[in-house]
Amino acid sequence: MAPHDKNSDPTMGPYSTSPSYGFQPLATQTKQNPDSNHAMLHRSLAYKPDTVSHASGVYLTLDSGRTIIDACGGAAVTCIGHGNPEVFAAALSQMNKVSYVHTGAYTTTVAEDLAHIILDGNPYGLEKAFFVGSGSEAMDAALKLARQYFYEKDEKERKFLVARKQSYHGNTIGAMSVSSNLPRKIPYEPLLLPNVSHVSPAYAYQYKQDTETENEYVSRLASELDAEFHRLGPQNVIAFIAEPIVGATTGCVPAPPGYFRAVRDICTKHGILLILDEVMCGMGRTGSLFAFEQEGEGVVPDIMTLGKGLGGGYAPIAGVLVHSKVVDVLRAGTGMFNHGQTYQAHPLSCATALAVQRIVKREGLVKRCKAMGVVLERLLKGNLGEKKHVGDIRGRGLFWGIEFVREKGSEEAFEPGMEFGMRVQRKAFEFGTAVYPGSATVDGVKGDNGNADSENSVVLVAPPYTVAEEELEVIVRTLAEAYDAVERDVD
Ligand code: PLP
Repeated sequence: MAPHDKNSDPTMGPYSTSPSYGFQPLATQTKQNPDSNHAMLHRSLAYKPDTVSHASGVYLTLDSGRTIIDACGGAAVTCIGHGNPEVFAAALSQMNKVSYVHTGAYTTTVAEDLAHIILDGNPYGLEKAFFVGSGSEAMDAALKLARQYFYEKDEKERKFLVARKQSYHGNTIGAMSVSSNLPRKIPYEPLLLPNVSHVSPAYAYQYKQDTETENEYVSRLASELDAEFHRLGPQNVIAFIAEPIVGATTGCVPAPPGYFRAVRDICTKHGILLILDEVMCGMGRTGSLFAFEQEGEGVVPDIMTLGKGLGGGYAPIAGVLVHSKVVDVLRAGTGMFNHGQTYQAHPLSCATALAVQRIVKREGLVKRCKAMGVVLERLLKGNLGEKKHVGDIRGRGLFWGIEFVREKGSEEAFEPGMEFGMRVQRKAFEFGTAVYPGSATVDGVKGDNGNADSENSVVLVAPPYTVAEEELEVIVRTLAEAYDAVERDVD
């Protein structure tokens, strides 16, 4: 593919390619700071993470002075880049007007405008938005809303939820219950929400049989879901929950074509709600505002969640979007969603998210994300596609995963503890590029021993939608160098 000409393609520019304070891709090796006395409870009790002293565009500056190119926006959060002055101004202006009101009694202009900018024209029948502080809270709210929907319809026997293996829907007890990311879940079991079962993920690279066509694979998954509904009694099931593109657990895995069409049809047939979790893949990240839009006409969730790209990291915010079908039942019933939280639709969060979404809209960043995604795909496949341990490179828009395996062509996962993806992530960071590692312990990955102790190993590349082509080139080049260094270490 010919490189894009930034000057002639309005979806590509005009973003600067280097920060004023300079990019140092080959900085010295990062030492995590051993410090058992720090007061913050970090993920690791043994190490204090690097302190970021400032961030601008696609760059982070550590207090050591090192500059890191942020190729994953945290965990696919940063969509307009860091340090946008328009967002600061919106935050300040809101703080000057109203810093807080309780949503039981009041609303704010920014909350209403944010709902409007997302739901302008009721896209796909989505009618209402509900804002909370995190993706996990959004998932919990979505689960409660789904349960209430059937309560109001006097279908109180519906108490089961079906989700997918190798999914991650958040860290609260409710969201964790529907998740199936075993390392994040097992230490906290038994969870409080027992009526959850999990069906197979739609993960063709690992699970489609060589003898199967894509259509046959989709039919097999659809039959499994239908059979699970029948096992539970379809009249007893509340909802099926899935990410349109699986993010953190297995690394940007889109479903095979036709999968969500089949899922939607099965849910509709049984009157079961479809909840799509777009916390990670939504709000433009995959090249369309909602990821589900790429799954074909009529594939529409009854309830969906949003998170990271909604506010782009400027303030904590996530959301639930609700289809008229659900709203109408509440309207005709109790007339309320009794799920108030103190910081729901917080004015500061709504003001910053509104500013972010206005920028995304005004600058055509979703379209740009799609166009830059084509560049990223070409670079990733060109620079890493032939590497020995690179099994699969997949994704959409600016949401790409690279899966590492023992040997190209084998699809065989590394032995537990190898942490290939984690090693690549650390090495890339050492070379000046931050990518997001995944190294989930999963069940049933080809080559494992049948126990839940095999490891799929991935890194995610999910830079801001504003990333420049030259920056993508640096990201992929350093990632390839990092990969080469790790390959030399492990082979
Ligand atoms: N759902 C998905 C798909 C996610 O990737 C995440 C977070 O990574 C969540 C839900 C939970 O979001 P949060 O971490 O904001 O609570």
